[in-house]
Amino acid sequence: MQLLLLLVGCGLAFGQDVAPLPLNPDPLAEDVATCSPFMDDDFAEEVGVVEPEQNTNSRMLVSRDQTRVAILGYHNFSKTAPVSDMLMRTSDFRKQMEYIRDAGLTVISMPEFLEWRFGTRELPARCVLITLDDGWKSVYTEAYPILHEFGYPFHLFLYTQFLSGRGDSMSPEMIREMQQNGATVGSHSTSHAYPSAWKAAAAKGPEAEADMIEREIGATFPRLSGLFGSIETYCYPGGYHTPAMEERLPGYGCKAAFTVIPGKVTVSENPLQIRRYMVFGNNHSIFRRAMDFRIAQLGTVAAPGAAPGTLPSSTPPPPFPVHPGVNETVPCEFGPISIDMSRMAGVDFSTVHVAVSGFGRVPARVDRNTRSVQWTPPVRIYMPNISVHVTWKSTDGTAHKAEWSFCIDPYAAVQQ
Ligand SMILES: [Zn+2]
Repeated sequence: MQLLLLLVGCGLAFGQDVAPLPLNPDPLAEDVATCSPFMDDDFAEEVGVVEPEQNTNSRMLVSRDQTRVAILGYHNFSKTAPVSDMLMRTSDFRKQMEYIRDAGLTVISMPEFLEWRFGTRELPARCVLITLDDGWKSVYTEAYPILHEFGYPFHLFLYTQFLSGRGDSMSPEMIREMQQNGATVGSHSTSHAYPSAWKAAAAKGPEAEADMIEREIGATFPRLSGLFGSIETYCYPGGYHTPAMEERLPGYGCKAAFTVIPGKVTVSENPLQIRRYMVFGNNHSIFRRAMDFRIAQLGTVAAPGAAPGTLPSSTPPPPFPVHPGVNETVPCEFGPISIDMSRMAGVDFSTVHVAVSGFGRVPARVDRNTRSVQWTPPVRIYMPNISVHVTWKSTDGTAHKAEWSFCIDPYAAVQQ
């Protein structure tokens, strides 16, 4: 019974995020162990039970437009150092890799991803692409042994000033060794310049910006391909990108450029603004969202009877106006999360409950005059993908629920 409760807790914790758990009783204990570190009880309580589904045929190839890829972005790892958004406990990384395996997801390589996006390669419906940014030595010492053990391919985004093997950086020899065992390499700039430096260059005029693009992006393609072979990908440091960068990238031989905006990638993804889930070491909600293949597109809830390859959600989208809107990308300062129920007849406002991912059930304020419900986050939210779950009852006692997601773009304000 306790085991069952734990399993239910696990499903609850993942809520709409849960990828199907195997039904075979033997791996059950493992699944519980795998899921428990990622539990988020309050949110779980609101989200409701998700029926586990069979994983049969999960590796069957589907037509290209039915595949969705969750691209994961990692940074630094340690067995002992305090975790942060950039630094993940090695044991948590292992648990995430176990989760991917147990959920029946297919880990693809970057070449396979590019052949799917630009060629004719077909993939299973639910794929994961693992990327690791910057070139931290811990990728070699901590993550690589686990990736190798699981047989997962992975893609390294390297910046050329962090490649000496001294201090916390990996050496070209370490990287070449990993290339023998599943690693591929892309560019992550020369110096990892942040938005302030890019904006300072752009303020000096288009020539200064073009010079910086040449120095920071263009120069890395021949440099890295000299060390590691052909380079076809670029990853914007901090996710910061401009139209001028996008214009010049293809000329350097770049086929695909990657951001930090979360969402499932489809075959029609803009190749120079490819979404990725940046997986934090101190907050597992992003990993959970990445594993959520019930959501067809960046928070859009799949409609009942959706096309094969999309998994229907058990929770419908809201039947009333909400802010931020369904699927909307907003800056960090998006104001209160609000729900306008003014056009809904017969709502028992004493039964309205709101849960927000990362916060659990929140003390949302009901304004009975305007028939609206509001909650203002007490802290600035940096999680890139937020989901909101609402439950309420009609005055006749009928229970209802709705869920939607929105995204936070930390650069939305500065890019305008
Ligand atoms: Zn980086």
